[in-house]
Amino acid sequence: MLKITPHLGILVIIVSIAGLWFPLLGYFLMLVFATLLVTSYFRGRWFCGNLCPRGSFNDFWVGKITRNKKIPAILRSYWIRIPLFLLMMGFMGYRLLSTQGLINQIGMVFVIMCLVTTTIALVTGASISPRTWCTFCPMGTVQNIIGGSKYQLKVDDSKCITCKKCDKVCPMQLEVHNNSKKPDCIKCGRCITACPTKALAFEA
Ligand code: SF4
Ligand code: SF4
Ligand code: SF4
Repeated sequence: MLKITPHLGILVIIVSIAGLWFPLLGYFLMLVFATLLVTSYFRGRWFCGNLCPRGSFNDFWVGKITRNKKIPAILRSYWIRIPLFLLMMGFMGYRLLSTQGLINQIGMVFVIMCLVTTTIALVTGASISPRTWCTFCPMGTVQNIIGGSKYQLKVDDSKCITCKKCDKVCPMQLEVHNNSKKPDCIKCGRCITACPTKALAFEA
């Protein structure tokens, strides 16, 4: 992850709370959407592990109060993720149309969206695991679909001693030591740091 990654979570609080009085802060989400759409084309879900304020909030704020349980496999299913994506986009589109183009009201739609999704991330993160929301977040699903095969993590089987230290530190609870495609890898690099034999690396 980047040096700035642990500090980005504060932006979630600013937009979700201060945005209720200053709706223009909601436009920050448009910058987030645009950035993740571009980066996902080249590096899959890299944005999630390095630049997303809510990802940082989940790891470094919610991580302090989580129960650290196993994330239910059903939440990774496209049968949940795609309908949720369509539902949220449809609802946001409907809300945006009802603003009649008023600048402050458009900003407020994004602020409310941020507040609602942050609340879900907080509750699921505290009761299950910090990145629970990130397993089915519509913006994570979009990045998975656009660039899930890009910048893959590779295991050098000749160096791997199957200690599974990589699995233990993965915030997305992936089976890191398996040399399979991992479209939901958020490229945080924690597994690479934890590996005692330097068996892990991202493909160029
Ligand atoms: S899954 Fe969503 S909330 Fe989580 S880091 Fe990615 S974009 Fe941010
Ligand atoms: S931490 Fe490294 S050596 Fe251990 S299982 Fe993972 S890849 Fe293999
Ligand atoms: S596989 Fe490694 S880089 Fe990917 S999310 Fe898990 S710990 Fe981070």
